[in-house]
Amino acid sequence: MNTTVTSRSLQRIIEGLATSDGAGVKLRRSIGQGQGARLDPFLMLDEFSSDNPGDYLAGFPSHPHRGFETVTYMLDGHMRHEDHLGHVGELKSGGVQWMTAGRGIVHSEMPQQEEGRMRGFQLWINLPAKEKMKSAHYRDIPPSEIPVAVLPDGGQVKVIAGAAEVDGKTVSGPIQGLSTEPLYLDVELPAGASFTQAVDGSHNAFLYVYEGDVLIGEAAPRALRSQSAGILSPGDRIDVQAGAGGARFLLLAGRPLREPVAQYGPFVMNTVEEIEQAINDYQSGNFTQPAT
Ligand code: FE
Repeated sequence: MNTTVTSRSLQRIIEGLATSDGAGVKLRRSIGQGQGARLDPFLMLDEFSSDNPGDYLAGFPSHPHRGFETVTYMLDGHMRHEDHLGHVGELKSGGVQWMTAGRGIVHSEMPQQEEGRMRGFQLWINLPAKEKMKSAHYRDIPPSEIPVAVLPDGGQVKVIAGAAEVDGKTVSGPIQGLSTEPLYLDVELPAGASFTQAVDGSHNAFLYVYEGDVLIGEAAPRALRSQSAGILSPGDRIDVQAGAGGARFLLLAGRPLREPVAQYGPFVMNTVEEIEQAINDYQSGNFTQPAT
């Protein structure tokens, strides 16, 4: 019996590229900045962070999504989500919106502040072929529903999806039971502190550092700096140590779908024909309801 536990190493660094999206919101895109920069089932990760209203005020006016999930995690600020079905959600500091676009949603995501800091992340997670056309679904998760565990070495972990093991106790986040089995942690470490997390050996995993820097891996640790995604090698465990200034990072892992990806902007399907169908459905007003 092989009981060796393998610590994942840092395999590839994708530096966040400054870009803009929506009506001109400035952001940094790491995962998803090109087709070769995806990590199945993760399609995209954007970080938005600014104290300058001119960088975010334009927001994300009405736009469609089909075939995947969007996860918005606000660190600071207030955005309002409104869709064509009448759902309204308020995204405030520390809260998460987990939106399963499924066969289609047309929504807007607009800042509800004219000054101050707006900071957070939007992650896109793919859906398996058999779930791409299911009905749209939302989870608006207030900060009070996101467990925060204090780490033995100092610092803390917030568990948004999946579960973390802290001091021998399992801390489970509000999002469970999805077919990609996502793990979504937000970790804060003081200078030099360590963090260890067990992960399913068959899942893909990456870190996104948004403050400070970290060392990843046990045998030959490699550095990952702020505003960069670090894709990890296969293994059963992730070992991270914060640098001299401490660190804050997201840790994401999920079950790869191993299905073809056909993407055209906010439509992510398996084939070109399905993309053409999505465009036709959107243009003909038949986007969210099956044809009868
Ligand atoms: Fe959107």
